[in-house]
Amino acid sequence: MEGTVVRIRGAYCEVATPVGPFVCTLRGKLRKQLVRPLSFNVRPSVRRVRELKATGPVVVGDRVRVRPLDRETCVVEEVLPRESAVSRAAAGRKPLVQTLLAGLDQLVVVFAVRDPEPHLGLLDRFLVVAESATVQALVVFNKADLGVPDELTRAIAVYRQIGYPVILTSATTGTGLTELRAALAGKTSAFVGPSGVGKTSLLNALVPGLAARVGEVSRATGKGRHTTREVALVPLGEPGGGYVADTPGLRELGFWEVDKEALAEYFPEMRDYLGRCRFPGCAHLGEPDCAVRAAVEAGRIDRRRYQSYMRLRRD
Ligand code: GDP
Ligand code: ZN
Repeated sequence: MEGTVVRIRGAYCEVATPVGPFVCTLRGKLRKQLVRPLSFNVRPSVRRVRELKATGPVVVGDRVRVRPLDRETCVVEEVLPRESAVSRAAAGRKPLVQTLLAGLDQLVVVFAVRDPEPHLGLLDRFLVVAESATVQALVVFNKADLGVPDELTRAIAVYRQIGYPVILTSATTGTGLTELRAALAGKTSAFVGPSGVGKTSLLNALVPGLAARVGEVSRATGKGRHTTREVALVPLGEPGGGYVADTPGLRELGFWEVDKEALAEYFPEMRDYLGRCRFPGCAHLGEPDCAVRAAVEAGRIDRRRYQSYMRLRRD
């Protein structure tokens, strides 16, 4: 039987299968495979470094093949190849990468239209992280009931023009929730964004009882509340299905390293101009005959987005 790992607790993992959830142990052979190669979507410069040993052979979101032992328990026989993985650089002497989550389809970047004021530079940073990890990005501006400032309406048009879907929501009045639910259907999504923008409120509106669920005690293993570092996939239920990753570690996404040389590729609106500058190694920071800069001057690339690029590039 195949299933998806929705939670890991010590030596056990919870696997959702077409016939229901199971608590699984790992086959002995798998338990020994504590170091595994990085997924393909990690850039070559970091592919050399080894994954943190503590990550273990299975992470939340992995597709696995399981063999039932009885009605409630299974053994994980095999971890199917990962198609995508979200990893972060772990602190330490040697560069190590810790995989937090596999199979993420979509990063839902949440800001408020006001209270707190949206920090568009941070939004651009999240979008770069999504591009570099090759996951889709969905932009949500919550608290639409407070009124959308004209300046933000103009910025939203820029994001949509680039190709990012943008949904205006209100967790308070329910505006946009049908659209948001449709955008989450059948996918594994993670919500990120600054605190106070309404992520918890949105998740509770989408999955009634989510907060209780995330903190629940596992009856099957008898272990207590999971620690704040743990990742879990919360099923969105019918119709549509899909999962939301409850991932405290992902909130640090804004601070992730991305390859400086590749940064311009992570701004989709710049891609058409890359390779057209006078200098092959052009950083697009003011070099002569820069095609990107010319596109900014001509109004074909939004100036504020370009400023985000410059800030990230110089960081
Ligand atoms: P989080 O930190 O991103 O998880 O944000 P919370 O869900 O805790 O919400 C922060 C504050 O914003 C709370 O006081 C919520 O009641 C409020 N809030 C959340 N969504 C909305 C909304 O759509 N409209 C308004 N006016 N307030 C909201
Ligand atoms: Zn250039």
